[in-house]
Amino acid sequence: MATGNLFILAAPSGAGKSSLIKALLERNQDGSMQVSVSHTTRSPRPGEQQAVHYHFVDESAFKQMIADDAFFEWAEVFGKYYGTSKQAIADTLEQGKDVFLDIDWQGARQVKAQMPDTATIFIAPPSRDELLRRLKHRNTDSDEVISERMAKARDEISHYQEFDYVVVNDDFEQALKEIEAIVLCQRLAQTKQARRHQKLFAELLK
Ligand code: 5GP
Repeated sequence: MATGNLFILAAPSGAGKSSLIKALLERNQDGSMQVSVSHTTRSPRPGEQQAVHYHFVDESAFKQMIADDAFFEWAEVFGKYYGTSKQAIADTLEQGKDVFLDIDWQGARQVKAQMPDTATIFIAPPSRDELLRRLKHRNTDSDEVISERMAKARDEISHYQEFDYVVVNDDFEQALKEIEAIVLCQRLAQTKQARRHQKLFAELLK
């Protein structure tokens, strides 16, 4: 039976979510954690690789996957399609590994409805000024895109109350520790421990 935990990390663009996920995986290289690779119809940004950062597909391929019921969840974000395929998570969870989904609030809502024991984490920037500063540091985006992202950020933040946990990314190290604490908490839940330590409890209760 699956013992892996499912985690969702959602945040407005500029909250530092991608860097936190990257650092989390770098610090925990014991094979117990995996990030799900989503499908998207948006174009790759410089440095992004096919099947590493996303499965980049065109709109007709994405729509075919919707028709084939291949997605666990999907949503339209910034006018592009994004989705988590069932394939991306099922096998990994079955191997007992924890899976991290880097998805938006719409996807989080769909996943939580299907798998209520998913831990959903909202990452917030420490202030509005800092969020704007971080968005401006991205050279790949034009002013128009930045103001559009600021509006979208507000929209994403307006859903923070739907999440189980909130981490404010002011101090990066602290935020990382807090995410690791949430992961540990989920792993130690009684239902998970009961499955992991079936033999132990059978022996203790002889
Ligand atoms: P970006 O284009 O900056 O990589 O991602 C834009 C937004 O789409 C982010 O909030 C990201 O978390 C979200 N996103 C990425 N993959 C998925 C997915 O598979 N499903 C959903 N619902 N959102 C996603």
